[in-house]
Amino acid sequence: MGCEDLCPSKRTPLSPSPCGAVILCVFMFTLEERSEPGKFRNYVIREGSLLGQGTPMALEQTPKKDWYSILGADPSANVSDLKQKYQKLILLYHPDKQSADVPAGTMEECMQKFIEIDQAWKILGNEETKKKYDLQRHEDELRNVGPVDAQVRLEEMSWNQGDESFSLSCRCGGKYIVCKDEAQEATLISCDTCSLIVELLHQS
Ligand SMILES: [Zn+2]
Repeated sequence: MGCEDLCPSKRTPLSPSPCGAVILCVFMFTLEERSEPGKFRNYVIREGSLLGQGTPMALEQTPKKDWYSILGADPSANVSDLKQKYQKLILLYHPDKQSADVPAGTMEECMQKFIEIDQAWKILGNEETKKKYDLQRHEDELRNVGPVDAQVRLEEMSWNQGDESFSLSCRCGGKYIVCKDEAQEATLISCDTCSLIVELLHQS
């Protein structure tokens, strides 16, 4: 049975994901063809685990990892840089690119790495998930900085039409500012002057 027989994409092509990162559908390969039978197990990545069923990867469902460092990229890298790094790595760790005599353990590691790289690109290659992830990263950084000073609601903040942001005065004289686009998602806002943080409460 060849890969073509098994791969659903041959019958029902997947719609391209918004990040253009669809690389594989069901990816299946057999190492046994090029090595001693029984030495390696067959590796099967199910559709969905790798692709999130063609929808942008839900950030909430993925483990917390530093997706930038997985791609060997800096968080300030732009999307085309990220894409280049992703393409280089995904080829490097592609199971088909491994020589037939690598030990099974190494193969397994390669596979893990391959999946991880793919996940990283699913998140960072998609504008929506990248934005969410960046925000989450930023908030994690803030959490490490210091305790939350107060809890506020958006209604308690003042709206600034000029720069389309909400702001609140900090007791240091500085301001907590959150722009309109981030206001719905942000949960932590840092003061622009001191190290205090307020938690933004959202109606549930
Ligand atoms: Zn302050």
